[in-house]
Amino acid sequence: NEEVVLVSACLLGQPVRYNGGGCADPALVLALAETEVIPVCPEHLGGLLTPRLPAELQGSDGAAVLNGCARVCDLSGADVSAAYVAGAHAVLALAQQHGATRAVLKQNSPSCGCGQVYDGGFHNRMVAGDGVTTALLRRHGIKVESR
Ligand code: SF4
Repeated sequence: NEEVVLVSACLLGQPVRYNGGGCADPALVLALAETEVIPVCPEHLGGLLTPRLPAELQGSDGAAVLNGCARVCDLSGADVSAAYVAGAHAVLALAQQHGATRAVLKQNSPSCGCGQVYDGGFHNRMVAGDGVTTALLRRHGIKVESR
């Protein structure tokens, strides 16, 4: 059985980031050349579009958002938590459908971040924690690495 790996779509160069960009990681693409890769953008899967306002976890982490006790808000102050949670569940469903046991996700994102995320102040400051999708995948035993 060949390994199946979920990868943040922006790391594969897909223009799915809030600002219309990607962030292609050629070394990652090379490292995964022989691997079955499932590109995922949880924010798009949750119904958000590109371009969109940047959003940050508000002083907490993805696990707290999944538990309903923290929020993700965009720069205008709009609560976009529902889209983040829906996107996380869509990614989990894809992982289960394809038998993926590992994910390589984009660092610092409120969806894909792993170990550290922006703190909610839109000032480029970090706090410890996982993004919403990372938190849900880890709850279900999927290994998440950050790039
Ligand atoms: Fe989409 Fe995750 Fe990349 Fe953000 S970091 S654009 S949610 S794949």
